[in-house]
Amino acid sequence: MRLPTKNVFNARPFSADYHRLLAGRKELPVYKQLDRLLKAVQDHRVVILEGETGSGKTTQLAQAMIIEGLIKAGEKVAMTQNKVLQADQVGERIAKEMDVPLGTGVGVKRKGADSTSDHTRLDVLTDGSLVAEAKRDPLLHKYKWIIIDEAHQASTHTDLLLGILKNALKHRPDLKVIIMSATMDAAKFSRHFDGAHREKVEGREHEVRGHHLRQEPEDSTLVEAILQVHATGEDGNILVFVPGVGEMGKIIAGVQRALVGARARYSSTEVGPMEYYKLHATVGEEATRRAIEELPPAPRNDILGRKLILATNIAETSITLKGVTHVIDTCLVKNKIYNPEDESWWLHKERISKSVAAQRAGRAGRTRPGHCWRMCTASYFEHEMLDHAVPEILHSDMLVETITILALGQTVVDFPFINEPAEETIEKAFGILGELAIVNQDGRALTDRGVIVARMEVNPYAATMLLESSTHDCSEEMVSIASMMEAGEAHGIFPRASTKQEQQEQDRIWNSFSHPSGDHITYLRLYMKWREARRNNAQDQFVADNKLRKKTLVDADATRKQLIRILDRDDVRWQSKSLDPDDPKYYSKIVRALAAGSGMKVAKRNPSRPMQYDIVRTGVSASLLPGMSCGAPTRNNEWIIFREYVSGENKSQLKDVTAVPLEYLIDGNPAYWFDVESRPVGHIQERIVETLMSLTGRSEGSIRGGMPYFQQ
Ligand code: ADP
Ligand code: MG
Repeated sequence: MRLPTKNVFNARPFSADYHRLLAGRKELPVYKQLDRLLKAVQDHRVVILEGETGSGKTTQLAQAMIIEGLIKAGEKVAMTQNKVLQADQVGERIAKEMDVPLGTGVGVKRKGADSTSDHTRLDVLTDGSLVAEAKRDPLLHKYKWIIIDEAHQASTHTDLLLGILKNALKHRPDLKVIIMSATMDAAKFSRHFDGAHREKVEGREHEVRGHHLRQEPEDSTLVEAILQVHATGEDGNILVFVPGVGEMGKIIAGVQRALVGARARYSSTEVGPMEYYKLHATVGEEATRRAIEELPPAPRNDILGRKLILATNIAETSITLKGVTHVIDTCLVKNKIYNPEDESWWLHKERISKSVAAQRAGRAGRTRPGHCWRMCTASYFEHEMLDHAVPEILHSDMLVETITILALGQTVVDFPFINEPAEETIEKAFGILGELAIVNQDGRALTDRGVIVARMEVNPYAATMLLESSTHDCSEEMVSIASMMEAGEAHGIFPRASTKQEQQEQDRIWNSFSHPSGDHITYLRLYMKWREARRNNAQDQFVADNKLRKKTLVDADATRKQLIRILDRDDVRWQSKSLDPDDPKYYSKIVRALAAGSGMKVAKRNPSRPMQYDIVRTGVSASLLPGMSCGAPTRNNEWIIFREYVSGENKSQLKDVTAVPLEYLIDGNPAYWFDVESRPVGHIQERIVETLMSLTGRSEGSIRGGMPYFQQ
């Protein structure tokens, strides 16, 4: 490749920083093989590119395509990343290497931020953002070239994109596609694109040595390993991959305790100072930056200090963490898996695959050689570890995915999935979306309501609640509730508690906003109080006083505005209406709307086990999430609606619940309740028949025989 003498975007001379970075780039294997790669992407419509982690795929290829004029002014190449963190870092890095500020020439588009424009030629997007664009334009005309990076991750969005691209290639002769990863099943990707051309970049810049345990790990092994690496390993920071945030506090405490003893044990080498960082989806931007950028602690007695960064799979691919030379891998990951049989979500800890293990190890060799210490035996690693992770789409409930595919103008049955979801899950999804009147009978098209739901980008249950709310005069309130639940689910209302006291304090604060009927109204009250504080320019004080997570409230507010913009375009089903706060029926009207929009996520208290609730749709029994409001069992909270049913290692819980009178439930969805004889929860039937009798004035016989009167 011929290097430009001045900036391709603005024709200015290059800065000193550019030349410094260029010297490093020239050492990367991808850079050295660019001529061959550029020819391949010109000669073939689809190229599958393999190359070790750190070889330079992500940072070098797209920028070389621009420099060589494959992407001219006015044209665009899109490159996906799986997560926001990765999209941000990759975009910033490439902009820096190309010597332009982000937003000129190179832009990033992801949930919550967009620096792309007509003037950006390389758009780095999260795969979710590109799917959102495809919903507006299924053939993605905006882009001449689309690069799917980190394809091995098999995220649901990436899988959807692979189907979208397969279709778009058929209809757009000018479109070109590149699929990249260090660890993907390249043959499978090539087959998906009808025998696409494969390229491999040999070599890596820095070696990462793998180490394995002599025997299977015990509880104490991880802390021991951290200590040993700290006391005796080569210089550099330590990145530990753990399955979940919950474990992090305990591990840090364990290391701190053990360090005291270690100072004696490793006295010959002396043990340096250590600082602790956490990196996961909800630590916040500032803490993320510190974990990635900040220098290790100052030396003590001339012994270098280290950073110990505990991370979830958020740090698995693409990113560079400053000075990390040791990766310690528990080889575990926590997955959220859907079970179509009882419509539950199961939080499950499981062993990672070889492909993920290689990505994690790759974080140690970004800027110099490193080590990866795996918490499993070599024999397990060689013979038992799966080659590739189970694709995320196989864990999904296929609700949002089905809506997306239909919004693209395709059908789930004919969609060219690279990983085919289970038939049972698809059937269940059709059933649920049919009940919610989002898809038509055979699941082949969106209803009018479904078209709006597809635009809303919230889950179909929240969408249902929103669309039901204007008939109950509280659509504004409902948008606040839905937005708070979305943001709360993504980031947490409070920062993650690391001690019992913190947890108790958060429960106390949550309860100070709570309403007897339950969580939904608590979310609303919290949001309204924050807004009131904002009107007085005191929102930061409010957040600090109540130890809330600022980002969650700001995000909820942004989501709220966006939802209203979308809903306002629909003048049939939704009208902006808000209740008078002094209306004596303020809360009961909202509860009525919640009941009508519950999408039949309803449970009834079990008569023999008062803290347990039986889910009406499935008959499964579950308890309430502790700390969530609903109060002691009374006749008023015999029936509840819930947002989600999650089953963990040894408990099953309902999250975000509100108590609702049965009358409201039946009134909101009469057709559903007429079918009650076929519902699995036997002990609820008498009351329902009774309620239906009093609401309709009909006889028991006519109710048990079904009621055409109510059929909608
Ligand atoms: P690949 O996609 O093949 O894993 P990348 O193109 O992401 O490789 O990175 C190649 C090399 O560039 C890394 O090994 C690292 O040395 C350097 N690099 C990339 N991003 C950064 C960054 N944000 N900060 C410092 N160095 C980086
Ligand atoms: Mg990469």
